[in-house]
Amino acid sequence: MELNFSAEEQTFRMAVRTWVRENLPEDLAQKVRMGHRLHAADIRLWAKILGKKGWLAASWPSRFGGPGWTGIQKHLFERECMAAGAPRIPPFGPVMVAPVIMKFGTADQHARFLPGIASGDVWWCQGYSEPGSGSDLASVKTRATRTGDTYVVNGQKAWTTFGQHADWIFCLVRTSNEGKPQAGISFLLIDMRSPGVTVRPVKLLDGEHEVNEVFFDDVSVPIANLIGEENHGWTYAKHLLGHERTTIADVNSARRELERLKRIAKTNGVYDDFRFRDEIARLEVDIIALEMMVLRVLAAEGSGQASLDVAGLLKIRGSEVRQRYTELMMLAAGPFGMPFVPDAMEAGWQGASFPFGFPGGHATNAPLASAYFNMRKTSIYGGSNEVQKNIVAQTVFGSLQA
Ligand SMILES: Cc1cc2nc3c(=O)[nH]c(=O)nc-3n(C[C@H](O)[C@H](O)[C@H](O)COP(=O)(O)OP(=O)(O)OC[C@H]3O[C@@H](n4cnc5c(N)ncnc54)[C@H](O)[C@@H]3O)c2cc1C
Repeated sequence: MELNFSAEEQTFRMAVRTWVRENLPEDLAQKVRMGHRLHAADIRLWAKILGKKGWLAASWPSRFGGPGWTGIQKHLFERECMAAGAPRIPPFGPVMVAPVIMKFGTADQHARFLPGIASGDVWWCQGYSEPGSGSDLASVKTRATRTGDTYVVNGQKAWTTFGQHADWIFCLVRTSNEGKPQAGISFLLIDMRSPGVTVRPVKLLDGEHEVNEVFFDDVSVPIANLIGEENHGWTYAKHLLGHERTTIADVNSARRELERLKRIAKTNGVYDDFRFRDEIARLEVDIIALEMMVLRVLAAEGSGQASLDVAGLLKIRGSEVRQRYTELMMLAAGPFGMPFVPDAMEAGWQGASFPFGFPGGHATNAPLASAYFNMRKTSIYGGSNEVQKNIVAQTVFGSLQA
C-alpha cells in the first residue's frame, strides 16, 4: 500500500487549492472557521458554486456528469475544501441517493433526477427512520399501496435532517407484509411538495432546528418514482448506507477543527499547559490514524478490492473524534464554555444584549456549547455506534476468524 501522494496527485491538489481559494466566499469561510451558524442559503450558495464547476458531483463517474476522479483525488478535494473553511454539503443528494439512482434507476430516472442534484438546484432528504424503526430499520411501517399507476403513501418518518429545506425525500416504504420484514420494503422517491406531506420541526439539545418529523397522509406518488423493483428496496438501502457511513468519518473537517481547537486553547491560555497539550496530541494522533484508515480504504478501492466492510469502523472512530474535539474546546474554555447562548451562533454576534458583554469572556468561546451539544448526535445518526460495533464484530472480526 502506497500512502504518499504521487506527483500527479500533488499537482491535482494544488489546482484544487487555487480554485477553492478563488471561489469560496470569504464571509462564508469565516463563519465555518468560527463555528457560527450556517443558514440554508449559505450552504446552497457553495453547493451551486461547486455545481457550476461540476464538482458537487465529486464522487460521480464521468458518464453521469461527474469529474471521474479517483478515490484519492476525491479525498484531496475534500481536504482542500475543508481546510479552506468550505461548508460541508449535506450528503443526501450527491453522495447518498445519487449512487442508488445511478446503479438501480432507469435511464428516465437518471435524466429526471441526476442533473438537479449535480447542479445544487434540487435538495434531498432521507426518509429511513420512523418512530420505533431506527436500529431495527427493517421494521418500517410507512405504507405504500399501489392503485393503478400510483402508490398511495401513509405513515411517518422521524429525524429527517433538513426536511424543511428539501425538495425531494427518498423513502423506505412497506409494500408487502409477506415473508421477512426486509422482503417487503420498496425504495420510493417522493416530491416534498406533494399534497399530504407535512413537515414538523424538532428542536435538538443545541436549540437548533436541524431535524424534523415528516408525515404522509394519502400522498399520491407515481410508480415512475419507484427505484428498481418493488419489494427489493432493502438491497438499495444497504448500498446507500455504506456510502453514508464512509462519509460520516469526515476526517477532513476533523483536521480543520483540530486547528480551531489549538486557536481556542491559545486564546484561553491553556495551550502551554502540558497536560492539555497531551490531550490535543492524543486527538491529533487519532485523526492521523483515522485518515490512514480512510486512505487504506481508498487504496483498496483503487486496486479493485471490496472495502466497505470497514465503513462501520470509520463511522465509529469518526464520530468519537468529532465528539472529542468539541469536548476539548469546552475544556479549553473552562467555565467560559458553559453559557449556552443560541444567538451566539450567529456571525457578527458580540454579546451586545448582555449588560457586561458576553459572560464567556472572549467571543470565540460563545458558540462552543452549541457545537458540543450538536456533536452528541454523531454516535447516534447513520446507525448508532453500538449497532455499528455489532456489525464490525460480525463482518470484520468474524471474517478474520473464518
Ligand atoms: C441528529 C440526527 C439526525 C438524523 N438524521 C436522519 C435522517 O436524516 N434520516 C433518517 O432516516 N434518520 C435520521 N436519523 C435517525 C438515526 O439513524 C437513528 O436515530 C439511529 O439509527 C438510531 O435509531 P433510534 O433513534 O430509533 O434508536 P433505537 O434504535 O431505539 O436505539 C436506542 C438505543 O439502543 C441501542 N441499540 C439498539 N439496538 C441495539 C443492538 N442490537 N445492540 C446494541 N445496542 C442497540 C442503540 O445504540 C441506542 O443507544 C438521525 C438521528 C439523529 C440523532
